[in-house]
Amino acid sequence: MSDHASPVPRRPDGVDCDVVVIGAGFAGLYLLHRLRRLGFRVKVFEAGEDVGGTWYWNRYPGARCDVESLEYSYSFSEELQQEWRWSERYAGQPEILRYIHHVADRFDLRRDIALNTRVERARFDPEAHRWTVHTAPGESVSARFCIMASGNLSAARLPDVPGIRDFRGRWFHTSAWPKESVDFTGLRVGVVGTGSTGIQVIPKIAEQAKHLYVFQRTANYSIPLRNGPQDPAIERDVKSRYAQVRKQARECPSGVAGFNVPTQSALAVTPEERELAYQQRWEWGGIGLTRAFNDVIVNAEANRTAAAFVVRKMREVIKDPTVADMLTPTYPIGTKRLCADTGYYPTFNRDNVTLVDIRRNPIEAIGDETVRTAHASYEVDALVFATGFDAMTGALLAVDIGVNGGPTLRELWADGPSAYLGLMVAGLPNLFMVTGPGSPSVLSNVVVSIEQHVDFISDCLASMADKGQSRIEADAQAQQAWSRHVSEVANQSLLATAASWYTGANIPGKPRVFMPYMGGVGVFRALCDEVARDGYRGFSFSSADGARSADFNSSAKEHCDGRAVV
Ligand code: NAP
Repeated sequence: MSDHASPVPRRPDGVDCDVVVIGAGFAGLYLLHRLRRLGFRVKVFEAGEDVGGTWYWNRYPGARCDVESLEYSYSFSEELQQEWRWSERYAGQPEILRYIHHVADRFDLRRDIALNTRVERARFDPEAHRWTVHTAPGESVSARFCIMASGNLSAARLPDVPGIRDFRGRWFHTSAWPKESVDFTGLRVGVVGTGSTGIQVIPKIAEQAKHLYVFQRTANYSIPLRNGPQDPAIERDVKSRYAQVRKQARECPSGVAGFNVPTQSALAVTPEERELAYQQRWEWGGIGLTRAFNDVIVNAEANRTAAAFVVRKMREVIKDPTVADMLTPTYPIGTKRLCADTGYYPTFNRDNVTLVDIRRNPIEAIGDETVRTAHASYEVDALVFATGFDAMTGALLAVDIGVNGGPTLRELWADGPSAYLGLMVAGLPNLFMVTGPGSPSVLSNVVVSIEQHVDFISDCLASMADKGQSRIEADAQAQQAWSRHVSEVANQSLLATAASWYTGANIPGKPRVFMPYMGGVGVFRALCDEVARDGYRGFSFSSADGARSADFNSSAKEHCDGRAVV
């Protein structure tokens, strides 16, 4: 355990703290800050050696956020958002991690975070209304509430290829990159995977490697990010009206104030107007291109206009027509996560880069120094797997969560995830998730979604403390209705048809459920606010006997009454 971690004070009644939070990324840190300010005693467990979550683990070369930093940042503190200065329009991983560390230090968060501490099991006692959380180092902590802030893209996925563990060279998954820099100079390197991560890491490795083999199963659409130094005039402008920018972000569909909300169909304009709209977004850079029109992701014909534009741009860059054919995606644009890059397509004009189609010729085995397909063998000294994640549910199901004498999360989700507002699962009282399945989460600026969920949870716990309640559970009917709504909204779009990680299609055997909510963060927030105003409609509350709940209620109540948060 690190120097920063402080032991949980043991309470006389066996309750160690009010809330256990699992994960110290953007979500866990803000939870700790908010709940602490409300007077709750909070303990955070983090598997990593330091705080940062996604931005701690994904330290591969080229890792960068594709939401502009002035927006991909906390809004809860005016001082913080004014004082922090982003050096680039889209910050890279090292800078985002520095920002997260700054937040942890500035708000004195580290003293309640146990690092190097993976949570393995959590059990709810239905009599005492209390969770006991067990960690890998053998510690167990009892808390009234357990909150999963373990991230949507944190359970890494390695392909099931025979021989992978026998590979003699160094191999890496991009989300478990070593802290020290890795030098590929003079090496033959293979990269497997061409999603958002592969598209970022491939140009960087190509600059160093003697030869780079890119093993591609699915060609993806990528838009140049057009990153650069943060423009001081833009920074001044945003900071002068940050409250308004943040409000706009919270109320719009994407959680990004800088993204317009399209009102026109791609089919209702002339070809010249359409071209101009796409061209402007192409030049602006990043993932807003499919928002040029309001039907790109719902109408196949409209979608084809955007796809054709991007493919044409890509083919203008790539010199070899055979390689261009291989890099041409065949699915509707935007139905798998749109990628954003810095120099991706030009990388394939380099003499030291070979694109290998593993859709047609899958990797059959990995040997000492080779990657073997049905038709060829590639000699490599190092392998990089940019093969993605068991998204949205992987990190939740990695913990054995359940109720004593009752159901486990794994049982409840055997046929796929279902959660009321992405927050709670019927059958698992006092357990919350931040940006769980059924919330906008990965389809939004996730920091905006995180702040919304954390605020909702914090207000809900404060309200429970006010009322002397010690148990909350999502109603099964409300959950069912919400899950139905989530899939109805998804089914109106082309996204539901794609074999993407949004539906679990990237994981063999994973039940196919479209997991994120497509209704947008503004609509979702309004709905959650209405649920709260309506006495937390769809949730049931109760109290344990006075002796057991008094402890939690008294500590929190004195602070909740004068609810002065940030
Ligand atoms: P991903 O989008 O799931 O891509 C994984 C890649 O690995 C795909 O090309 C996939 O091919 C391939 N792959 C997986 N299993 C394979 C196998 N057994 N054999 C061969 N190829 C295999 O994962 P990711 O690139 O890590 O990105 C995940 C998400 O993280 C993104 O969608 C995005 O939301 C986020 N992200 C964001 C940024 C950013 O902000 N710029 C950067 C990185 C990641 P198939 O498509 O054929 O399955």
